[in-house]
Amino acid sequence: MFLDPTKLRRITIEITANCNSFCPQCLRRVASDVPHLGLKEGDVNPAIKVGSAGNMPLETVKNIFTPIVMGGLKTLDFNGTFGDAINHPDLIEILHHIADVSDSQEAVRKANGRNRRTDLWVSTNGAIRDKQFWTDLGHLASERYNPNNSEMIFALDGTDDKTHQLYRRGCPYEKVLENARYFMEAGGKAIWQIIEFDHNKHQIEEAKELAEKLGFVRIDVRRSRFAERISNQLREKAIETGVMSVKEKETDFKHTGFSKVKKKDMSKGAEHDSTTDNYKEMEKKAKEIVVEQFDDNMEDYANNCNIWCQWGNEGKLQIEWDGRVHVCCHMTAYFGRPWRKDMANKDGTPNNPYHNHYVAKYDPHWNYTSHHKLEDILAHRFFQKDLQDSWNNRVDDPDKPRLDVCVDNCGSIATKLRDKKEDRISLDGGVTT
Ligand code: SF4
Ligand code: SF4
Repeated sequence: MFLDPTKLRRITIEITANCNSFCPQCLRRVASDVPHLGLKEGDVNPAIKVGSAGNMPLETVKNIFTPIVMGGLKTLDFNGTFGDAINHPDLIEILHHIADVSDSQEAVRKANGRNRRTDLWVSTNGAIRDKQFWTDLGHLASERYNPNNSEMIFALDGTDDKTHQLYRRGCPYEKVLENARYFMEAGGKAIWQIIEFDHNKHQIEEAKELAEKLGFVRIDVRRSRFAERISNQLREKAIETGVMSVKEKETDFKHTGFSKVKKKDMSKGAEHDSTTDNYKEMEKKAKEIVVEQFDDNMEDYANNCNIWCQWGNEGKLQIEWDGRVHVCCHMTAYFGRPWRKDMANKDGTPNNPYHNHYVAKYDPHWNYTSHHKLEDILAHRFFQKDLQDSWNNRVDDPDKPRLDVCVDNCGSIATKLRDKKEDRISLDGGVTT
C-alpha cells in the first residue's frame, strides 16, 4: 500500500504555526508588499493563524499518533514551514503522549521490524523556554525515544550574537547555547545547524570547532535546496515565456549557492567552498535530460517526464499545523502562498490544479486530522488512486492532471540530481529551522 500507515518511515509535523523569531526568508511572513491582498512586507502570511488558534490541539495529535501508526513509525520529525515546535505550550505533554502510545505498541512495533523506539528529531531556533523545559526535553529524547538517533537541531547561524541574529532574528546567541547545554546535560544529542550565507561563511570553521568543544554531536552546514531549484527555475522560466529552450536559458541563468543539508563528520572537515563547480555539474546534468530526452522542450518534459514520488515511495509524509495531511513539504510550501497568481484568485482563495481537480471534488476536511484519524485519511482515494494516476497524465488532463509541484520536485531532473542517500532534508519554501 502507498503510504501504509502501519509502516511509515517518517512523519514530519508542524504542531504550531507560531514562532518567537522572524527570519527574513521564512514563509510565515510576507516577503514584500502584496497590494491586491492588502498585505505589507512583514505581515503574517494569511495562510496561517497565530496565537492559540495556531497551535495543534492534543485531540488532533491523538488522531495522528494512533496505535496503528505508532506500531510502525520509525521517525518523528518536528519541523515545518511556518512555526517552531518549542512555541507550542503543550510540547512536553504531546511528546509524552506519543511515547505512551508507542510503548503500548511495543510488541507490534517489533513484529513490524522496528526494534527500537521511534527516533525524535526536533529542529528549533532554541531561543526560548527555561532550564526545566530543556532538561525535560533532554530526558524525553534520551529515555522515551530512540536514544541512538534522536536529535535536537539548533539553528545557530554564526559564532557571535550579531552575526547569528542577522538571519535568526530575536534569538539571542548565548541563550540558544545555554538551552543546548541544558538539553545535552540531560542526556540529549544536540546538532549545530548553520545555514551558510555570505555574511557568515567565514565563521563556519570556527563554528565546527566550537560545536565540537561544546559537546554537539555534529554540525550540519546547510545551503538552500539545489536539485529542486534547478528544476523549478527551468520550469518557471518556461512558463513565463511560453516554452523556452534550455539553450536560451543558459544566457540568463544565475545562481549563487549550492543547496542541501550535509551531515558532517567533524573529524573529516567541511567541503563548503566548491559551490560553483557543484552547481555547474548539476546544471549540466539537468540540461542533458531535457535536451536529450525531451528534444530540448520544457513543455514535453513537464508532460512526459517520469515522476518518482520521493516522499510517498519512502513512506514519509507531512502534516501541517492545522492538521492537514500532505505527502510532502513541497505541497505545504507550494499552497501556502495565496499571493501567487498561478495558485490563487485575486482575493487569495485557491485557484490551482490541486484545488480545482482534486480538493474541490472531495468531502470537506477529507485530509484534516482534526476530523479524521491518520490511517483513514491515508486510505482516501487521493492518496491511493488519484495522485498516483496523475503522474501518468499530462498537466492539461481534464480529469486528473499531473501537478506542476510534482514535476518540479520529483520529475526526472530533480530525481537525477537529488542525493537519494540523504535522509534528512531541508524544507523548501522560506527556509525553516
Ligand atoms: S511533489 Fe508530488 S511526487 Fe513529489 S513527493 Fe510531493 S506528492 Fe510526491
Ligand atoms: S525560519 Fe524557523 S525560526 Fe525562523 S521565523 Fe521561520 S519558523 Fe521561526
